[in-house]
Amino acid sequence: MLKKNRLFTPGPTPLLPAAQNAMAAYGAHHRTADFRALFSRVLADLKEFIGTKNDVLVLTSSGTGFMEASLTNLTSPGDKVLVLTAGKFGERWVSLAKAFGCAIETVTAPYGETIPVDEVRAKLKPDIRCVYVQATESSTGARHDVEGISKLVRALPDTLLVVDGITGLGTTRFDVDGWGIDIIIGGSQKALMIPPGLAYGAVSERAWQRMEQTKSPRYYFDLRKERKAAQKGETSYTPATSLFAGLAAALDYIRQMGEGNLTAGRDALVANAEMCAAMTRAGVEALGYKLFTPKSPAAALTAVASPTGIDSSTIVKHFREKFGAVVANGQAEMKGQLFRIAHLGYYDYMDTVGVLAALEHVTAAVTGKAVEFGSAVRAAQEVYARASSS
Ligand SMILES: *Cc1c(COP(=O)(O)O)cnc(C)c1O
Repeated sequence: MLKKNRLFTPGPTPLLPAAQNAMAAYGAHHRTADFRALFSRVLADLKEFIGTKNDVLVLTSSGTGFMEASLTNLTSPGDKVLVLTAGKFGERWVSLAKAFGCAIETVTAPYGETIPVDEVRAKLKPDIRCVYVQATESSTGARHDVEGISKLVRALPDTLLVVDGITGLGTTRFDVDGWGIDIIIGGSQKALMIPPGLAYGAVSERAWQRMEQTKSPRYYFDLRKERKAAQKGETSYTPATSLFAGLAAALDYIRQMGEGNLTAGRDALVANAEMCAAMTRAGVEALGYKLFTPKSPAAALTAVASPTGIDSSTIVKHFREKFGAVVANGQAEMKGQLFRIAHLGYYDYMDTVGVLAALEHVTAAVTGKAVEFGSAVRAAQEVYARASSS
């Protein structure tokens, strides 16, 4: 059969056609009124999308660039930081903090679990300069309790909270200003439906004040320099101009989802991810799979444990070869143990039902056992029907 290529990966995600068209058409130079207007509009829209009054910046880099900026701009070598880690992206915070000479404390949870807030309370001391956490740990599909963690951090006057919301933004509800998140980071290739290449983030007044004192080396990712340039509608260096055109189109699309209101559109996008995730969880469980993160699953993606004795690589391979569908394997030492199906950004009902129907065939093929066709799809349909009638 014909196979359309489809991404079910937690970044990059499927591209919005209107954004692709906008990117293909855009050719303006970045030091022009044309780009300044586009850039300023994107920054204003992103503030609304994130739901913050703080300054929003966009960097031409992958998400990790803004993570690095959140270290180098907010810490000096030797500063004590607390990293909350339960997966490969949490470990990235540890590596970054190490690279820039911080004294690192950690709260860890095993892969497939969420950060224990009580342990955060126990480890959080007034001399900790920054706390780093993921909103959703994309390597395991876990959702962390950012609200609970932020309450603890905000009780301390000199401790900043940095949230990697790279798969959290657009899939999770946040009150960035109300909870007092000092930096929250997103990436273009996740819920915003455009290719990789832009990282964005909201930066609090407390964080700007911290930057007046910190001494870690920084150059390309100097946020103070970017803020100054942004106030004039510009970036410090050459931005990925066409991605900005795509981002503007994607934010327009999200605004249309909210019938002209971007905040309402963002909420609809979050609700969409939650619905796709609930359908997917019901579908995989109906087939006898176990969730890799059963207690605190994210809406951004569903991580599914591979059945005993089966390497998830064969499941991933089957999806690709038979159906053109790219699902993600486990990362690093989790490779072979799980597969991940994403719901962040441009995913809909049809994608969700389709990937579950394919999973029925894939399961029959890799396990060699009889599968009741329609069982995963039916379970997903029932979740949808219940939600639609309530
Ligand atoms: C995708 C992702 C990142 C950033 O990865 P890049 O490859 O640098 O864009 C960071 N954290 C999480 C949770 C992610 O999902």
